Amino acid sequence: MTKLCVSLTHSSYDELTTSIDRLPECVDAIELRLDLLHDFRSDWQRCVRHAAQKTEHTTIVTNRPTREGGHFEGEESLRLKSLRRSAELGADYVDIELESCSRLGVLSAGTGRIVSYHNYDRTPDDLDLIYDRLLDAGADVPKVAVKANDITDSARILQMLDKYSSHTDLIALAMGEEGQCTRILAPKFGAFLSFCSVDPYHTSAPGQVSYRQMEKMYRFDRIGPDTQIFGVIANPVAHSMSPAIHNAAFAEKDMNAVYLPLKVADPASFLDYFQQYDLRGLSVTIPHKETVVPLMDELDELSKRIGAVNTIDIRDNKRFGSNTDAAAALGVLENAARTADMLPLAKREVLLVGAGGAARALAHVLADKVGRLVISNRTHARAVSLAEDVDAETCKLEAVEEMSPDILINTTSVGMHPNVDQMPVPVGMLQPDMVVFDAVYNPIQTRLLETAEETGCTTASGFEWFVSQAASQFETWTEESAPRSLMADVVKRELNKR
Ligand code: NAP
Repeated sequence: MTKLCVSLTHSSYDELTTSIDRLPECVDAIELRLDLLHDFRSDWQRCVRHAAQKTEHTTIVTNRPTREGGHFEGEESLRLKSLRRSAELGADYVDIELESCSRLGVLSAGTGRIVSYHNYDRTPDDLDLIYDRLLDAGADVPKVAVKANDITDSARILQMLDKYSSHTDLIALAMGEEGQCTRILAPKFGAFLSFCSVDPYHTSAPGQVSYRQMEKMYRFDRIGPDTQIFGVIANPVAHSMSPAIHNAAFAEKDMNAVYLPLKVADPASFLDYFQQYDLRGLSVTIPHKETVVPLMDELDELSKRIGAVNTIDIRDNKRFGSNTDAAAALGVLENAARTADMLPLAKREVLLVGAGGAARALAHVLADKVGRLVISNRTHARAVSLAEDVDAETCKLEAVEEMSPDILINTTSVGMHPNVDQMPVPVGMLQPDMVVFDAVYNPIQTRLLETAEETGCTTASGFEWFVSQAASQFETWTEESAPRSLMADVVKRELNKR
């Protein structure tokens, strides 16, 4: 079973031992980074002794020199001595760099040797050769830690684990945001351990995830060879709420699945590399919604019409693209229209403000459903272009106050955090009998929605839309009903953190 190993980066004996004493059950191993101690000479032996006494954890001792990306600046003989002595004090493993391994000497019986190769710049081509060199150097556990500059570098690390982890205990990980998936998926590929941090502020390598997130969000202990992989492909991806939402939903339904944030530059090569590994479903967001369209084996009608895919369902090695954005937005709007007694939509006049991605999804889904669709946008030429695509009318943004639509939809980012006081249209155009739908979901209650409610309008929020499209994705992939209220709670919680 792959161990969850917390890398302890504290600088003093007190901090380090307090941290060790508070570790939860989910942590199987601890790595002491002796090179990070401020007062190395006085503290290191006490730290190793304290850690080694805790038999519930596997103890790994590392004392990385600056030339290998660590912080130890003292004499090499002292550094090597600290590792040998750590073995005598009861460390289960010491970590020694490939280049220094021959100088380490004999360790006490019972202590294993992690021989490590680091590359902080890139993932080299010759991973097999590096693996052989680590074994030849006498590694009980070979360790490869390299920088992923592209998500496909992570795929090569996973391939390495897949190939060798049944032969030897092996640690292989890719550093950086593009490499984060190798840390989370380590148990699926049989790694000896995966490193995590005490919290998001004390990481020892880029891309490390805290043990709380590993345990609570990714359910690390549940991941194994049969775990299905889901994720969001985006660039950037760090602020996506989707991993929190979908992992919570998988946990609620007790599914053997994990959902990852995947920083992808090129969806085609990502799919080529990852599809072989139980990749079951993807959310697609900026900037890839359009570029993935030609990569699909099949498209649903809506995504074909819009020319954008936000959901990929992979079955029997075939990729099905759909657009739950558009379908969910229509559902949310119809609910509000029903409440306002405005169905059928065919009798209604709709003003759609905006001409970006959200507007595009809504324009396509509304064009043949509503009585009259008028599009207005800051950059009028974009409104004209979208209107031509869907056969709608346009109105200059300066002139929208003269309109009195039944339904007003804002798909601009106006009013979005942090500019929460901004309104996309003049207050004066709101009328009590209108339906007002705001795509913005951060904040949940936008100034537009607040003003519309005060005016007596029926409202629909971007929050409802966001939750609904995520629920539809979950249902597309799993064919089970989504735990919608749980998903809504997670979105609220995530928004509160921002
Ligand atoms: P986008 O493609 O970048 O389009 C942005 C739109 O906002 C464009 O029409 C742009 O006008 C307009 N805009 C930006 N700043 C403006 C300003 N200061 N004044 C007037 N218009 C301005 O973005 P998007 O993907 O369509 O997203 C738009 C909003 O919808 C965001 O708040 C997003 O979070 C939200 N959204 C919500 C959901 C959901 O599930 N609830 C889904 C998708 C999007 P120009 O053409 O003139 O630049």
